[in-house]
Amino acid sequence: MFDYLIVGAGFAGSVLAERLAAGADKKVLLIDVRNHIGGNAYDHYNADGILIHKYGPHIFHTNSQEVFEYLSRFTDWRPYQHRVKASVDGQLVPMPINLDTINQLYGLNLTAFQLDEFFASVAEPRDQISTSEDVVVSKVGRELYEKFFRGYTRKQWGLDPSELDAAVTARVPTRTNRDDRYFTDTYQAMPLHGYTRMFEEMLDHPNIKIMLNTDYREIEGVIPYREMIYTGPVDAFFDYRYGKLPYRSLEFKHETHNVPIYQAAPVINYPNDYAYTRITEFKYLTGQEHTKTSIVYEFPRAEGDPYYPVPRPENAEVYAQYKALADDTPEVHFVGRLATYKYYNMDQVVAQALTVYRKIMGTKRTEAATLPRLSRTTMPATVPVVSNGTSKGNGKAK
Ligand code: FAD
Ligand code: UDP
Repeated sequence: MFDYLIVGAGFAGSVLAERLAAGADKKVLLIDVRNHIGGNAYDHYNADGILIHKYGPHIFHTNSQEVFEYLSRFTDWRPYQHRVKASVDGQLVPMPINLDTINQLYGLNLTAFQLDEFFASVAEPRDQISTSEDVVVSKVGRELYEKFFRGYTRKQWGLDPSELDAAVTARVPTRTNRDDRYFTDTYQAMPLHGYTRMFEEMLDHPNIKIMLNTDYREIEGVIPYREMIYTGPVDAFFDYRYGKLPYRSLEFKHETHNVPIYQAAPVINYPNDYAYTRITEFKYLTGQEHTKTSIVYEFPRAEGDPYYPVPRPENAEVYAQYKALADDTPEVHFVGRLATYKYYNMDQVVAQALTVYRKIMGTKRTEAATLPRLSRTTMPATVPVVSNGTSKGNGKAK
């Protein structure tokens, strides 16, 4: 008899499997309908031996020391600050919009102070910021909104920014300085040997059994368990009782080119041209050296694997109905981006899973509750470093 059946081997399911098995000595069956662990963060070496992210670029960043230290038990890190360029008006300019973006785009030489004044002169004041259009237009005005945000958002979501919650475009800030990093979080790093290796380390425990290529419905009633942790789409779990919750999908087109470098930045966004939103070149992210290089195009789709919840009021209403059902189903814990219908980054999913673990164990947030084992690496307070113990199993603190 398993104590827990965990549905989904992504961040949500894997963190809970690890915690319940290693932290609470529970017997766990972790299953996934896919043929691999890692969920959407899964990476692998392609036919040319280049490490790629099967489901699009995954860049780890967090302000949570707890999350970073927790994951550091299973991987060493490669410090990596992500940078993105947008292809606008025939130029490649820094995205998020910063001082250099504006100077380059308009052939100007503004100072940060002058840029502030410029933004103030073009911004359209809004009494309330409720949509993704409001966020941008109220800061940088309509022209920049149209160049950088409207087309990209329509392509990505199949909706106008005015139909999406403010939080969507608010993920991308506007700056008046020259900082061209995509994220400003305290911890920004990539797992040194990739995400899948990190998941393998996490799940390497005698209390965890893994079953791939299996939908949980195939084993329900066949393999006994006490409680379930479910990380798939919440509407599917309840047989779409309140209708389908929209999840945005993507089609990934992977290519390998016989050149060492393909493009001028790790990610190039195409807000106004082409059917794809962006192209990612993986070697920038992973630091791998190779004579060839692999890239991925992202083509947004309405149908396909569920990747993004779609944050807008009518969907929040439908989700609230599913949430009420979920709350009425205490023997199942709903965790993660699909099961709680939240546009969460990886670190937020890890934090959510650690919180659910504490709730299950009835403990408060203390070091003892979440970090009972030694850290794999000793981390300084703020700067990610790569430790020496890099080979698999080396320095593992289990
Ligand atoms: P998932 O990874 O989706 O795992 C859920 C698992 O459940 C899946 O493997 C699925 O196969 C399985 N499952 C579902 N239903 C069933 C069933 N019936 N039976 C069995 N198994 C089932 N986050 C960042 O922090 N940085 C980034 O740069 C970043 N980039 C992203 C880029 C893209 C294109 C996408 C789509 C997401 C990105 N994210 C990024 C978000 C990140 O992928 C998620 O936060 C994280 O992977 C969610 O983990 P999860 O466990 O909640 O869900
Ligand atoms: N966005 C945009 N133009 C860009 C980058 C982002 O309009 O060049 C908007 C778009 O709506 C996108 C959202 O901001 O979906 C969040 O961007 P992010 O890069 O965080 O998306 P993700 O990596 O999660 O796909």
